[in-house]
Amino acid sequence: MGTQACGKCQAKFEMRLMGVTVVETAGTPPKPFRLWKADSYACPICNAELITNFSHEPLAENYEENFEQMMDAIPDGKRRVLYSPTYLAQTVGHETKYVRTYGHNPNL
Ligand SMILES: [Zn+2]
Repeated sequence: MGTQACGKCQAKFEMRLMGVTVVETAGTPPKPFRLWKADSYACPICNAELITNFSHEPLAENYEENFEQMMDAIPDGKRRVLYSPTYLAQTVGHETKYVRTYGHNPNL
């Protein structure tokens, strides 16, 4: 992995955990979809986490027979959940309805 720095602290991310399992979700509400192996790095100052070095292929997909067992087998400290881009897009779309127009001057 190349150098990766925390933009807030200007510190270099350090390896925290080799081998975390990332649970990728899909749908609304989000459900576990695929499992990925990855590594966890952390900023030594603010503790921000960087998940990187994803496996090229998923460890398991939710249609596979052993998916539930593999989910249950992930140690708590090594589970990371990522919400799907679809879910994030829907969430943002929903929330932006409540964002006021920035810089609106009612006197104009
Ligand atoms: Zn930081």
